[in-house]
Amino acid sequence: VKSNSLPHFQVFDKHFSQHVYFNKEVAGFIKDALRKNEFYLQYMPIHEAQSLKVVALEVLLRTTSKKMEGIGPDVFIPIAEKFNLIKEIDAWVIENTFSIIKENYTYLEATKPIFCINISSEQLRNTNFVGLLSRLLKQYDIPAEWIELELTETSLVNVEDKNIEVLQGIRELGVRLSLDDYGTGYISFNQLINYPVNNLKIDKSFIDLLEKKDDASKMIVKSIHSLATTYQLTTVAEGVETIEQYRYLSELGCDFLQGYLFCKPVPWDQVKTLLDPSHTE
Ligand code: C2E
Ligand code: CA
Ligand code: CA
Ligand code: CA
Repeated sequence: VKSNSLPHFQVFDKHFSQHVYFNKEVAGFIKDALRKNEFYLQYMPIHEAQSLKVVALEVLLRTTSKKMEGIGPDVFIPIAEKFNLIKEIDAWVIENTFSIIKENYTYLEATKPIFCINISSEQLRNTNFVGLLSRLLKQYDIPAEWIELELTETSLVNVEDKNIEVLQGIRELGVRLSLDDYGTGYISFNQLINYPVNNLKIDKSFIDLLEKKDDASKMIVKSIHSLATTYQLTTVAEGVETIEQYRYLSELGCDFLQGYLFCKPVPWDQVKTLLDPSHTE
């Protein structure tokens, strides 16, 4: 059984069929939600570590489907990947993000946040992806440098040359690339420098451990950051929840911070206040 979700279903055989059944059922719900347009987006700020100014917004998918109540993207995205629904979802997220940007263009031109969109590793095998991205950028008239795509590090393990071509194609459009959940995969730094990425997002699991005064995790975070700096990559720490983590990371020189300590994901109508605290509607 290969799954990122509900690992307890893997422990006992009798749960196996239940697990498969659950996935199939959720896949049906996803199809339904796509057909009925029961998705929407939330935005989670990424802050410059020194000033805490909001410099980017991570786009996160949400659903209003009653049947999917309690099932978050951490569960339904891996299922969408297995059931071949992820291309449609990623395209929906990109198009709807671009549409929001276009509607708010004047405002965003003044505040210039980067929009960070999560993309499934499936797109690395999708030869139409770069074309789609390019077409949508033109259609909505979006400056490519406003967009950053987040790919998980694990998705780049066993990456083949033609996958790197997709990454290069994305960069050639002027869109930025970020490696998400960094540190959880097994990419050596020697491999990493072959990938045209701009940013590393240090996985929450390492940030969690900082809290436990765990010296090994401090060393890991520190070495990720210093290696990133050597290769002129920026770093984001994800999942910052405590003042202690914040202090350690900002002293370390981590460039950007994201986490519940600063802000949770919010709907679009709250984004303007976040980008510009003096803004009122
Ligand atoms: P991710 O890309 O690692 O996104 C970060 C997740 O961690 C988000 O959960 C966010 O709300 C949560 N998070 C951020 N800071 C904190 C913190 O300080 N404390 C805690 N406890 N949690 C924090 P979310 O929105 O449930 O997303 C889960 C995963 O689902 C994402 O992980 C991403 O892999 C996937 N996902 C979400 N939206 C999309 C999407 O539009 N497209 C694709 N392909 N995947 C998506
Ligand atoms: Ca992400
Ligand atoms: Ca992440
Ligand atoms: Ca993570």
